[in-house]
Amino acid sequence: MTEAERVREIYKRIEQAAKDWPTTSLDYFQEEPFKALIAGMLSAQTREEQTLAAAQALFALADSPDDMLKLTDEQILQAVRPVSYFQSKAKYVREICQRLVEVYDGVVPHTLDDLITFRGVGWKVAVLTLQVGFGIHDDITVDVHVNRISKRLGLVAPSVKQPAKINEALKLVLPRAFWAHWNSYMVQFGREVCKPTYPQCASCFLRDLCPQIGVVEVAPGRFKSEAYL
Ligand code: SF4
Repeated sequence: MTEAERVREIYKRIEQAAKDWPTTSLDYFQEEPFKALIAGMLSAQTREEQTLAAAQALFALADSPDDMLKLTDEQILQAVRPVSYFQSKAKYVREICQRLVEVYDGVVPHTLDDLITFRGVGWKVAVLTLQVGFGIHDDITVDVHVNRISKRLGLVAPSVKQPAKINEALKLVLPRAFWAHWNSYMVQFGREVCKPTYPQCASCFLRDLCPQIGVVEVAPGRFKSEAYL
């Protein structure tokens, strides 16, 4: 099997398995750029359920930059309380909305360069906003799941650390048609199978295709990340 064939087979199996997996929180905001941007910012270092709870509470109060600016600081703070760093993120919500209204006529811009100029919006959230909000898939969103699993599968060298560099490395090995869903597939696969500390290698449907880089068998049929040994 060539490397290209291995990659295609990995994707085919994950795509098949994903049919039974739940959607990720940001999937709720497909083709809604404003919600995708705000929910993406709220999602930093926060679990999916908490992000969704905060985003839904916030959007129940206001779902446009103009309406968001009519809310009090306390209303925004209470709505986003479920996420980590909620006090900072509550401020970012207002700052993002202010800038959207003042500079962009209330319309979310659709370029990476513009998006990363917003407070609280880094490269990852900007890519996520383009993907979820606009359906633009020029890059692959890199989060902890994409980082970990892509390296275990031998698609990216373990020495590559920065999300933007991991994105570039992945784009060299994954056909473009795979870029759009790679992140959401990895999030679900990372929760269900290729878990951070104890990957479920013994029952993994990719076992025969995976070099298990950075994973060791600590007991028969029991696998652990080298990072947690
Ligand atoms: S075999 Fe193990 S390391 Fe490889 S993808 Fe499956 S769970 Fe992850």
